[in-house]
Amino acid sequence: MKFKVYYTKRVDLETIEKALRENFDVAIEDAGFLALPKNALNRLRQQYNAILLLPHIPPYSIWIVDKDIYVDKMNFVFGIAWQRKAIISTYRLPDEIIPKEVVHEVGHIFGLEHCRNHCVMQFSNSLTEAMAKPSKLCNECKRKLKLQ
Ligand SMILES: [Zn+2]
Ligand SMILES: [Zn+2]
Repeated sequence: MKFKVYYTKRVDLETIEKALRENFDVAIEDAGFLALPKNALNRLRQQYNAILLLPHIPPYSIWIVDKDIYVDKMNFVFGIAWQRKAIISTYRLPDEIIPKEVVHEVGHIFGLEHCRNHCVMQFSNSLTEAMAKPSKLCNECKRKLKLQ
């Protein structure tokens, strides 16, 4: 399977593809620059509503954005996955964590939920948690993937 990757600012697609291949049977396609739509910007929060970004990309695609994003009831999110699409924000992430977050969101696209094992599917809502979790799926998550 091939995922399209859009971005607002150039990203290291090679490292992202490598991280994805280590966990899933997927390749990526450089889909090029895609600017953030103004209607998704919440002016009070100065953040983009991730849900409003989703209609702008097709299923099985990933959009890596350099602005801060949020969903209702959350101060911010590193990424979301919905309707077989993922949005990842690099705003709060050091470069070396970006591939890991992409793997996490693609895991959601493939139906994986948050995991309590030592696993890339651990929930993280702080940079410390995002840094601490491993970049790979645990055996339990791998098994769930195979069952699909
Ligand atoms: Zn998650
Ligand atoms: Zn797991």
